Amino acid sequence: MADYIEPLEILIEQFRKLPGVGRKSAVRMAFGLIDMSKEEVQRLGQTLVSARERIRQCRVCGNLCESELCPICADEGRDSGTVCVVEDARALMSIERVKEYNGVYHILGGTISPIDGRGPEDINVASLLSRVSAGGVREVILATNPTVDGETTAMYLSRLLKAYPVKTTRLAYGIPVGGDLDYADEMTLLRAIDGRQEL
Ligand SMILES: [Zn+2]
Repeated sequence: MADYIEPLEILIEQFRKLPGVGRKSAVRMAFGLIDMSKEEVQRLGQTLVSARERIRQCRVCGNLCESELCPICADEGRDSGTVCVVEDARALMSIERVKEYNGVYHILGGTISPIDGRGPEDINVASLLSRVSAGGVREVILATNPTVDGETTAMYLSRLLKAYPVKTTRLAYGIPVGGDLDYADEMTLLRAIDGRQEL
């Protein structure tokens, strides 16, 4: 049986769809929303819809952007011959913050995970291969997280990439195994990029 009246339960259910939000937090958020004025809620609702409408994925790399190409792919000063493969846009931002990498990116949108039943067709592998086979790519840096799934994905990709004339490298991890690029400090990430090793 539901704890709250139906409209509250519906609200709680919606908030729970957000990552990291359990029932307790969702209940708190739902009550918070009820405390807001109608105008505030309206603004929040409009902000949600317009953010979702304005934010798109870059046609080339999958990064989040407002136009067809993300600012990185559109920047002619960047080396499009070096492609850094990351799991998500957050990892991309972590590497960008270091301000050392001048290549471009490819966002996988996740990892391969045999345990969770996610295969290569569930992430952006095909688009990576078509970028590489289109030519012009000299190096692919596999910068998936040093987790079991991240390693599995990097190994899988390195095997596929052997069929192409590109150098494949993996970040040299001073990043703790099981860690997340998102949480690595800038010096660690800088060392990981500089010390990347060929696979
Ligand atoms: Zn892009």
